[in-house]
Amino acid sequence: MTDKHINDENFAIELANTIKIVHGQETDLIKDSQSFISWMLNKNLIKDTDKITSSELDSLFAKIIDSRKIIRNVLKQISEISYVEPKVLDDINSILKNIHIHIQINNLNGKLVKSFNTDSDFCSKILLLIYDSLIDLLVNYELERIKQCASSSCTLFFIDTSKNKKKKWCSMQTCGNREKAARHFNRKKLDTK
Ligand SMILES: [Zn+2]
Repeated sequence: MTDKHINDENFAIELANTIKIVHGQETDLIKDSQSFISWMLNKNLIKDTDKITSSELDSLFAKIIDSRKIIRNVLKQISEISYVEPKVLDDINSILKNIHIHIQINNLNGKLVKSFNTDSDFCSKILLLIYDSLIDLLVNYELERIKQCASSSCTLFFIDTSKNKKKKWCSMQTCGNREKAARHFNRKKLDTK
C-alpha cells in the first residue's frame, strides 16, 4: 500500500489538506458549499443520487469548517510534538457528542458485519466518516508517523509509512524533488561566488 493510497482513504487528512498552497498562494478547496459538495462527490462521501436539502448542507458546511480547524490543529500538534493536548481531545469529543449513531449487526452475503447507523441523518453520517478516520489515525498509527510536509511551499499532512520513519515530504515526486533541486541550485550559486 503506498502512502498516497492511505492518505486518500483517510477522510480526516483529506479534509485537513483542503487548505493547500497552489502557485504560492494558500488556497481553500472547499471555500463554499458548492465546492464542498464537489469535494464530497470526488471523495465518494456522497453519491449523485443523495438528496440533500439546502438547510442540511448549510448546517453540515459550518460543522465541517469547524471540524477542519480542529483536525488541522490535532495534526499540527502531532506533527510537531507527537502529542495531543487534553483540550484538543475535548474539542473532538464535544463534536462526537452531537453525532447520533447506533451500532448494528447485518448479514452481508452470508457474513455477519458490524455497522454504524446514523438514522439517515445526513450531517451525522458525513461527520461520522470524517471523525472515524481521525480516530482511526490517532489510535492505529504511531503518532510520529503523522507529519506535515517539510517543503517551504507545501502544508500538506501525510502518514509516513516508510520503514525508518524518516520521510520528510508529502511526495518525493513533487515536493521532495523540488526541495532537492532548490538545494542543489543554492549550492551551485555558493560555489560560483
Ligand atoms: Zn509537500
